[in-house]
Amino acid sequence: MTSILNADLHCHSVVSDGTLTPEVLAARAHANGVELWALTDHDEIGGQARAAAAARAQGMKYLTGVEISITFANQTVHIVGLGFDATDSRIVEGLRQTRGGRGLRAQEMSEGLAAVGIRGAYEGALQFVGNPELISRTHFARFLVESGVCKDTSEVFRKFLIEGKPGYVPHRWASLRDAVTWITQAGGVAVIAHPARYKFSPNEEFALFTEFKHHGGQAVEVVTGSHTAAEAVTYADMAREFGFAASRGSDFHSPDESHTDLGTLPYLPGELTPVWELLADRIQ
Ligand code: AMP
Ligand code: MN
Ligand code: MN
Ligand code: MN
Repeated sequence: MTSILNADLHCHSVVSDGTLTPEVLAARAHANGVELWALTDHDEIGGQARAAAAARAQGMKYLTGVEISITFANQTVHIVGLGFDATDSRIVEGLRQTRGGRGLRAQEMSEGLAAVGIRGAYEGALQFVGNPELISRTHFARFLVESGVCKDTSEVFRKFLIEGKPGYVPHRWASLRDAVTWITQAGGVAVIAHPARYKFSPNEEFALFTEFKHHGGQAVEVVTGSHTAAEAVTYADMAREFGFAASRGSDFHSPDESHTDLGTLPYLPGELTPVWELLADRIQ
């Protein structure tokens, strides 16, 4: 397969912090011309069987997917896994452990918000949760918009949910090594998600890419809803430098919040190896 393929290998459903079901997402992806799709919920593969069946019903090719939260150099980094066996017990158990602690963290976030006069945020956020094990900052953001504290979720993050703000609670996620190992041992390919989003120094970023490769990581997102055109060029260069394949995905969460819809990205630059070439035998 060539790089001229409408692949969308990054998006979220109600199983994590998206607002649409796997079935509605599959229909929307297909309507937007997606040919190869992956649902990549945060730290959770409970939606994979539904997504694969929905893709099949739409006549769309499918790769299993997940977006794993890890801590690297004191920052949260996301590692996308594609094409792994979603019944592999090590990834299932590893993700279960990664999800643990979100509930407690959410209660602490709520206490931080109460201290600045925002009451009932935990209960409020819970109303937006599709999966009780996966309460995330996004659900708090939706509650604060609904209750009129902010006009949109970006404003909530800026004022309340990022480091240094009252609702921010640091959390220890999985390690880089664990996430890459779970994915690769289950037959999949690990991908660094939206690399331009992190606030690393050049040395820290080099360490992330080097260690990721050392642990068996093979790809990086180049074309994503989180990158500008200039950032895509930067990370196309990085992919070449490190010998990584390239991935493409919208990171779609919701028709109301996401600026990039499913399947509406530029194609991957032709000179890069598309990640789906490494996964030809895992496509369903
Ligand atoms: P969590 O896993 O609970 O830390 O929540 C992280 C999620 O919050 C990400 O997956 C995004 O969906 C969302 N998010 C992070 N930063 C922002 C931001 N600045 N604006 C809007 N959404 C954000
Ligand atoms: Mn998210
Ligand atoms: Mn992410
Ligand atoms: Mn994402």
